Amino acid sequence: MLNSKSFREYAHKMVDWMADYLDEVEKYPVLSRNQPGDLLNSLPSFAPSESEPMDVILQDMEKLIMPGITHWQSPNFYAYFPANSSYASLLGEMITACLGVNGFSWVTSPAATELEERMMDWLGDMIGIPKSWDGVIQSTASEATFVAIVSAREQLSDFQINEKGFPSGKVYRVYGSAQLHSSIEKAVKIAGLGRENYVKVEVDEKFAMKKEALGKAIKDDIEQGYVPLCVINGMGTTSSTAMDDLEMCGEICKEFGIWLHVDAAYAGAALILPEYQYLMKGIEMADSFVFNPHKWLLTNFDCSVYFVKDKHSLIRTFQISPAYLKAANDDVVKNYRDWGLPLGRRFRALKLWFVLRNFGIKEMQKVLRKHMELTQVLLKKMEGHPQIEILAPVNLNLICFRYNPGYHTEEKLNQINEKLLTRINDTGNAFLIQTLLNEKYTIRIVLGHPKHEERHVEEVWQLISEAIKQIEA
Ligand SMILES: *Cc1c(COP(=O)(O)O)cnc(C)c1O
Repeated sequence: MLNSKSFREYAHKMVDWMADYLDEVEKYPVLSRNQPGDLLNSLPSFAPSESEPMDVILQDMEKLIMPGITHWQSPNFYAYFPANSSYASLLGEMITACLGVNGFSWVTSPAATELEERMMDWLGDMIGIPKSWDGVIQSTASEATFVAIVSAREQLSDFQINEKGFPSGKVYRVYGSAQLHSSIEKAVKIAGLGRENYVKVEVDEKFAMKKEALGKAIKDDIEQGYVPLCVINGMGTTSSTAMDDLEMCGEICKEFGIWLHVDAAYAGAALILPEYQYLMKGIEMADSFVFNPHKWLLTNFDCSVYFVKDKHSLIRTFQISPAYLKAANDDVVKNYRDWGLPLGRRFRALKLWFVLRNFGIKEMQKVLRKHMELTQVLLKKMEGHPQIEILAPVNLNLICFRYNPGYHTEEKLNQINEKLLTRINDTGNAFLIQTLLNEKYTIRIVLGHPKHEERHVEEVWQLISEAIKQIEA
């Protein structure tokens, strides 16, 4: 078993392992080649009864675990959205693990609570959240959106659903574009509102919510006796980074007295660039906002931040005070256990503090601007290719495209593009995923790795154009 001395020895080795891994990550096939069950079947069925030496465990890690890793920290990872990290973030995470703080109340570690409070001020200021709002770290955007919808539900019912359950005869409705992330539907479902009461609003050719469609959906519902509860504004959808008009949503929500939640899980990071601040026009009419520093802001998973206009509605919704959690100064400090679902909370503010200080705003802006630039370089190449079709506006650093030589049926195009994507991913030199836009099989490529440079654009472009050449050969 490890002791203080051997811990020190292995910890040094592990740091070397981490630095080497990040230096050499491009040498691995980016998408794991494991088949289902590969790892499961190579692990013993029962836990060891005797202590095993670290050397043996580490050998097994290389042999058994690494082949089953998909390399999210590789510049060849162009799939989903990035889950970026940084050296500063990793160091923060190491200290968090070591301190092992569970910061559910101020008293359980005053520094954890107060650092979180100050980091929320910093971040809110960086992205243009109104000064009077408050922020809190949640584990994921899914959790934050769930918190928003339940808070809206409680505020509208005068906090009575928490007490008595749903009143009979009242049906609450939630609105968002059909392009929104699945976490919205999940939240509506588990908040007890009923999946059928999630109204999917029609989108325009840019995949953003149509104003008339949103207004009409709400009016129709009111006429039919439904109770409009919440509108979700998608600021950067997952499929195509489409942007719902925040000001438009805000005005409609104000008119009808509806909670407005902004899902900027990915795009929120871009708001640190002054040239993207126009997206926040109308934010003062919103009630809550989520974005994930753990996607594009150099802070390793998990770290999602939730901003809320009226913290009292949030706290009143989630607060619970059993005798064993009461403390002397509860009325003057923040107890973040009352700001969301879990009691236990990791000290995630520490890595944010390390990241924000070690980079500074300017360096972070540089990283993001580089991604925007590289995306435009790749976009130019794609637009110049006679057989590539761009399927959505490029708002940030995501391109949605497909191969289309112009003479196939839609059905055939979908089949060929699926084959094309498999061919690209099978090389092991890039990992991209697909989505569906207007029923069209669409390939997505995100250029968002902190180490991305011209070389990567060139390499992935070679890969894509080669695969296109071969696809009908
Ligand atoms: C990634 C993403 C989510 C979900 O994020 P989690 O933190 O994994 O729950 C929600 N909405 C959008 C727009 C996203 O891009």
